[in-house]
Amino acid sequence: MDDAKALQFIEEVTENADKVQQTTLAGILSQNGEIEYLKCFNLDGATDREAFKSKIPVVTYEDILPTNSRWRSLPDPLRSTHLRFNNQVLMNFAFPLLKFVLSSILFCFNSSGTSGGEGKLIPATKQDQDVRGLQISLARAILNRHMTGLDEGKSLHFMFVKPERRTQGGLVVRSTITRFLKIEIKNLPDDAMKTASSPYEAVCCEDIFQSMYTQMLCGLYERERIIRVGTIFASGLLRAIRFLQLNWKELIHDIRTGSLDPRVDDQAIRGCMDRVLRPEPELADMLARECEKDKWEGIITRIWPNAKFIDTIVTGSMSQYIPTVDYYSGGLPVICAMYVSSECAVGINFDPFCNPSEVSYTFMPQAAYMEFLPLDPEFSEPVDLVNVEIGKEYELVATTYTGLYRYRVGDIFRVTGFHNTAPQFRFLTRRNVLLSIDSDKTDESTLQGAVARAYKVLDESKTVVVDYTSYADTTTIPGHYVIFWELLLKDPDGWPSGEVVEQCCLAMEEAMDAVYRRCRVGDKSIGPLEIRIVERGSFEELMDYAVEKRSATFSQYKTPKCVKLKPMVDLLNSRVVSAHFSPALPHWAAEERL
Ligand code: AMP
Repeated sequence: MDDAKALQFIEEVTENADKVQQTTLAGILSQNGEIEYLKCFNLDGATDREAFKSKIPVVTYEDILPTNSRWRSLPDPLRSTHLRFNNQVLMNFAFPLLKFVLSSILFCFNSSGTSGGEGKLIPATKQDQDVRGLQISLARAILNRHMTGLDEGKSLHFMFVKPERRTQGGLVVRSTITRFLKIEIKNLPDDAMKTASSPYEAVCCEDIFQSMYTQMLCGLYERERIIRVGTIFASGLLRAIRFLQLNWKELIHDIRTGSLDPRVDDQAIRGCMDRVLRPEPELADMLARECEKDKWEGIITRIWPNAKFIDTIVTGSMSQYIPTVDYYSGGLPVICAMYVSSECAVGINFDPFCNPSEVSYTFMPQAAYMEFLPLDPEFSEPVDLVNVEIGKEYELVATTYTGLYRYRVGDIFRVTGFHNTAPQFRFLTRRNVLLSIDSDKTDESTLQGAVARAYKVLDESKTVVVDYTSYADTTTIPGHYVIFWELLLKDPDGWPSGEVVEQCCLAMEEAMDAVYRRCRVGDKSIGPLEIRIVERGSFEELMDYAVEKRSATFSQYKTPKCVKLKPMVDLLNSRVVSAHFSPALPHWAAEERL
């Protein structure tokens, strides 16, 4: 679809958002009408909104997860349908019933959203691929409307695939981004890789070091032609900067000599780099002058002087990275183009050059059938897309071509306005998430479990932890979890040694979920967990602050399990007695590659 048609399409569907929603729902239901899940709720082939909403329940992933105890207690027909989420069981028990569904599933997405600490499996289908492809074309058209000449320069967009795996039943499981890079990219209109400075061979290399090294090297060679720099999420951009800080000498050596560091031994990469490598001593000198400086403020614009903007998501939990991104980019505009998840790709930012703190995503009515669960407990019924109210907060409930029906995605939004009749949403947060550095999402119960595990390492006859709270420290690259502890010594000699507290850090990491451990060990996108022991009385001061300054009620005050407000973080930091880091990596097994 060319840009003019894409913009026209946007106007048409947003002008008739409610009608398009009804058509989308009818399309999904008529295509999936034979599915046992819909049958067992007696939908009887109906495709209208009223029947759908009165008969099909709103569910969470846990409700439809095949292996949990709730599933085991469900009646047989219902059980069968849930098996779509786990091909292994589907093959063993329910294949005949679900043949139709299976034939339309291409593979499962591996979502970073966690369920019981494990990544979720979300089915993916051909239609879903088409919906995502269309969203990308629409977002590109919007960007091109705001800035011309984007196809003339190069884009340094750091992209990485993750190893794929198969369910025992044979379905391929891969992340949304991996699917995009391995499959969808080939179907994009004018071949998105044309403007990318990173060679396809580097992007598709599963070894993160080799991939990053090559992408960075190519980006440095192309420095004059790069007009945009980005990653999917802002945490990834900061890792790229850190990578440059650690490896600039080797990269510059390669540019000076036209050779490739022997640590990059992937044959596909080496083959394609033969065409790129050339000795460029002047470029090497210039880069060395910049990288040698103590201060890296504005390094992005110093190295890529023609970069016009940063293309990375800094909304939601990523907003914590905005000051650091600004620091390294010298204040370049930051663009958050889309809201996408493994479950659905529905949001497009119609005003890409707005201030990052004001980004809203317009939800496209053809992308999925959407309902919105009000956060206000007084209103428990989900409302339709066009009926959301400005200023109110909601959780997205999606019905998709892939077989999610009234599924709570877990993302929370506030309505900020409308484009024609389609609402626009500001991403607020994920339901129940306390701490997040990269794609990890640690909730209160996981944190509590981890802290409990750490307590066991302490000698409780001598020391007890009076109170704790946590904080995602993003001033280090990669960021890391900080846990503040206030200790009570039962025995004057009971102060735990540094070594013991380090073991507490490790015990906590061991108790974190699989996504945290993958980020920490596999992706190296999270640094070692840190325990900061604070002076006695610090948590009382924290409460005083909350009561005096934040209108908390004394009798109902509970220590927040995560502190986000700067004055509270500053207060605790000013009372730190000692800081201790996890001395080793937690366990992470290949089969946990979720
Ligand atoms: P995954 O399913 O692993 O691809 O992760 C998708 C999740 O990333 C979503 O459910 C959101 O929580 C988050 N996410 C995606 N796009 C955005 C965005 N534009 N702003 C903030 N968070 C986002």
